[in-house]
Amino acid sequence: MGPSKISPFEATPIDSIPATVNLCKTSFHAQTTKPLSYRLTQLRKLYWGIDDYADALVESCKQDIGKPVFESFISEIDWCKNDIVFVTKNLEKWMKDEAAPDMAFTNSLLKPTIRKEPLGTILVIGAYNFPVQLQLGPVIGAIAAGCSVVLKPSEVSPATAMVIKKIVEEYLDPNSFAVVNGGVPETTALLNEKWDKIFYTGSAQVGTIIAKKAAETLTPVTLELGGLNPAFITKNADPRLAARRLLWGKLLNAGQVCMSENYVMVEKEILPAFIEQLKITLKEFFPNGQKSSEDFARIVNKRHFQRIKKMLDETSGEILIGGEMDESQNFIELTVVQVQDENDSTVVDEIFGPIMPLLAVDNIETAIRTANKVHSTPLGLYAFGSKAETNKILNEVTSGGASINDAYYHGSIPTLAFGGVGNSGQGAYRGKASFDSFTHRRSVTTTPGWMESMISVRYPPYAGKLPQIRRLTQQKPNFDRQGKEIKGVGYWFSFVFGLGANSLKGAIARWVVVALVAVGFKKAQGNSSLPPWLR
Ligand code: NAD
Repeated sequence: MGPSKISPFEATPIDSIPATVNLCKTSFHAQTTKPLSYRLTQLRKLYWGIDDYADALVESCKQDIGKPVFESFISEIDWCKNDIVFVTKNLEKWMKDEAAPDMAFTNSLLKPTIRKEPLGTILVIGAYNFPVQLQLGPVIGAIAAGCSVVLKPSEVSPATAMVIKKIVEEYLDPNSFAVVNGGVPETTALLNEKWDKIFYTGSAQVGTIIAKKAAETLTPVTLELGGLNPAFITKNADPRLAARRLLWGKLLNAGQVCMSENYVMVEKEILPAFIEQLKITLKEFFPNGQKSSEDFARIVNKRHFQRIKKMLDETSGEILIGGEMDESQNFIELTVVQVQDENDSTVVDEIFGPIMPLLAVDNIETAIRTANKVHSTPLGLYAFGSKAETNKILNEVTSGGASINDAYYHGSIPTLAFGGVGNSGQGAYRGKASFDSFTHRRSVTTTPGWMESMISVRYPPYAGKLPQIRRLTQQKPNFDRQGKEIKGVGYWFSFVFGLGANSLKGAIARWVVVALVAVGFKKAQGNSSLPPWLR
């Protein structure tokens, strides 16, 4: 499909939704989606669908959010294609049964096993800012896990929602995978159906609606929610590195990234140098400014443009860099604001746009206290400073993920599990985590008939059987009443004969090193006591 053929946005008729959902459920219950071969074929077809529609997706991302071509390939199209390649290469391995760890011999006779079973029929609800990745990413995981899926893309990126619908309908099995387009009424109709899991990406407000609705039917949810992510720059940081990397975090997608730093706390000593480097770097990145550049996205729509403009109008901070806006293009320039206190709206509300508030702090302790006060469970955290300082920050402020010495690099590793904690969400996905997100780990045992006499001790009448069953099942603790570890014979044996290693592998490795050193030493001495093949 050429870019010119992107259909105008059309919401799916609400009265068609129950039948669509039923079709997907029936397909799942008919066991259609479970075989490895089916999952692989669907994923491979989706790969080629994304590839064939790459030009259309680039154009739709441009129409929806002014996304630069570079960003559309890196963070949307190739992102999803690479995810499919990774998942299809590993799927057979992930699907294999797992044996229970550390089993007693008698238990091993029952073959305790974890089977990886698909959860069922999944509802995926996406956010607008990465209009391809955030919709298809979870779908890839759900197909890999053997589920059927109904996807509801964000209507705020309408052109891409239409292209995605076309890809899914043309390339995937229509009995198992469907796209419903629309806004609140269509999503509400979908939420009125019973699902085996709901995977939602978006704001915490709507996330609360989703979680409440899901709770009515005890439906499990993954919630990928928003930011309020703090960045820390200590006096020992490199101001140029911090400026380049944090600007990248604010410039990509014009700051409409859930992981983007919401506010930057800078130790007073280094603030002037950091501001200077921000100015220099911006000039390097955009010699002719951002407005005329092909490499800077636009705000998604007028509502969000007005929301961000209002934040700038109401801040008590001082604009140090930028500030230009053009509503006719939904353009907002990267704007650096120095705010005076932690209650400024640019600090406590999610910006989700190209504004970078700077807050001068006396020391790291104040910065840590502020971060924990503003939002105790942000999605991301970014710390620049010495190793001891960044470790302290990592230890004392929690977050869904963290990048040390960078802005959200952790979030751009496609095989690293990605998700929030507390108010920034629950559950994770990407790579193997996507498979796990839609998989039920089902514990199964099989008790052989011939074991009956061995296990008959468990049956009533219990009289006289307690000592025997306790002898069989009771574990000896390796700790005392003060909570201290008791080092048993096994420990001392491995300590002495394993050269202090705490595992067999470690002991073997140490003995190999000792042997190599001894042989090397003897060789150096020209020692003839070595066997001829070692001389
Ligand atoms: P949003 O919450 O407005 O919309 C997300 C989805 O929910 C859309 O598909 C929308 O149609 C649906 N929706 C909206 N209102 C609804 C309602 N009342 N009932 C049912 N469904 C409804 O979010 P957005 O504006 O698209 O995205 C921005 C937010 O998403 C930010 O807070 C951002 O931090 C967050 N986000 C998080 C991640 C992540 O991975 N953690 C990624 C991107 C965006």
